[in-house]
Amino acid sequence: MANIDLLPAVRTFPAALTGAFIDGAAFAGGGAPIDIVDPASEDVIASIAEADPGTVDRAVRGADRAFRDGRWSTMRPADRERILMRFVDLVERDGEMLAQLESWNQGKSINIARAVDVGASVEYMRYVAGLATKVTGLTLDLSIPIVPGQRYHAYTRPEPLGVVAAIAPWNFSLMIALWKVMPALAAGCTVVLKPSELTPLTAFRLAELAVEAGVPAGVFNVVHGRGATTGQALVDHDLVRKISFTGSTPTGKTIGRAAIARLARVSLELGGKNPALVLQDADLSRAVPGLVAAAFLNGGQVCAALSRIYVERPRYDDLVAALHDAVGGMTIGAGLDPTAQLNPLVSADHRDKVRGHLAAAEQAGATLLGGATAPERGWYITPTLVTGAGADAAIQREEIFGPVLSVTPVDDIDRAVAQANDTPYGLTASIWTNDLDRALDLIPRVEAGTVYVNTHVPVDPNLPFGGYKQSGIGRDFGPDALDAYLEYKSVCIAY
Ligand code: NDP
Repeated sequence: MANIDLLPAVRTFPAALTGAFIDGAAFAGGGAPIDIVDPASEDVIASIAEADPGTVDRAVRGADRAFRDGRWSTMRPADRERILMRFVDLVERDGEMLAQLESWNQGKSINIARAVDVGASVEYMRYVAGLATKVTGLTLDLSIPIVPGQRYHAYTRPEPLGVVAAIAPWNFSLMIALWKVMPALAAGCTVVLKPSELTPLTAFRLAELAVEAGVPAGVFNVVHGRGATTGQALVDHDLVRKISFTGSTPTGKTIGRAAIARLARVSLELGGKNPALVLQDADLSRAVPGLVAAAFLNGGQVCAALSRIYVERPRYDDLVAALHDAVGGMTIGAGLDPTAQLNPLVSADHRDKVRGHLAAAEQAGATLLGGATAPERGWYITPTLVTGAGADAAIQREEIFGPVLSVTPVDDIDRAVAQANDTPYGLTASIWTNDLDRALDLIPRVEAGTVYVNTHVPVDPNLPFGGYKQSGIGRDFGPDALDAYLEYKSVCIAY
């Protein structure tokens, strides 16, 4: 097992970073430096100044000026689309650099960084860039009776909202940043992006590439810093018209309150505690690899990841044995080692939080079935199956966001559905069966924004994605992806 050699451009990139990218150029952050750390070696990659409130104000005012000068917001849609397509080509050109930065900084597998963080993002970017020329409104017949004989021509006119604050988490920093930046730019908005303080590297490179592609200076800005300081200054700024947030449910509620206080538009993509129902007839040879991938992708640090399985009792023993085999055979190592299947968690704090959840589950009477031993250095957790957890145990209800999967036998499918739905979350769920009648009966009964059958976790630009209940408000992706960044003006003309 050996790490890949980092490109020279990757090695030197972090040291040159400042705390913000404003009006098309690097800008000093003004605040104290924050260490960016490699989760596998625990070595400091770089120290980058935090953007203080004055810097955030400068970024938002710059974005507001860029919006009002109209170069981007009133640009011909075809020209905007062409520039965004060039931006996609540049991300593809620098794909290896971006993948290495992401793997080094977050600790994730270089294979996932190449295929998902970069590969899937490039496809997503092209899909959304193409929507810039497909924005439509409605023509409406009116029946207003006030002036006899008068007729009306009425239509809705989509207009970009203005400055968007885009706030992204650390687990897929580049990809989730693009889920916000791309529809905002395609709609004609300007953006201030705040990546997680833990994983800011690729956000800066994206902003540089956007400028190289021809996005006017000031349209795409980045501020680096902690949520409670830089993030809060951004969401509280009066000139921010829309907040697009992906992160945990508690932070989402804080941001939702800040948005509502001044009636800024807000979309929230939040946490999940995602269940799978494995029915008696399921083909385990197909289900097991799918369940393992869904639970342990990026060490379970995925909002859509599977975390609870409810399996009909006759298949319980076989399923637990097969899952234990699969988990026990996983190799553990640095993300930059392409042969490692499971990698460190993002930070020591997060690793300790996951450990705390496992200790509490064991104390509450659950059994933990671990996998291979983790390296001593680095923020690793061995992949773990949990059996015997009670329905009310915290491990069955709270988001763990680590390589942990619980399995529970069920005798009654109605109770299984009730248990699957019995959390505050509702992001994804899956049903594993070839019995069409049972699948079609269960799909409407599961409370989740996305329900999969015989798969779990993939997202696609053309398939709307978002949460029921406390997993969020709004939908990303799909043909209507720009709606969240547009205001629809109603126009009424009498004649
Ligand atoms: P957090 O909620 O802790 O943070 C998300 C982002 O918000 C970070 O950039 C954070 O900054 C920032 N932030 C924190 N507090 C504030 C604040 N008061 N004002 C403004 N910004 C703030 O989530 P994590 O980064 O830990 O990400 C993991 C979570 O994200 C999980 O719950 C996961 O389920 C969810 N997620 C949801 C997805 C979805 O599509 N539904 C997709 C991916 C993840 P900083 O980190 O610097 O503190």
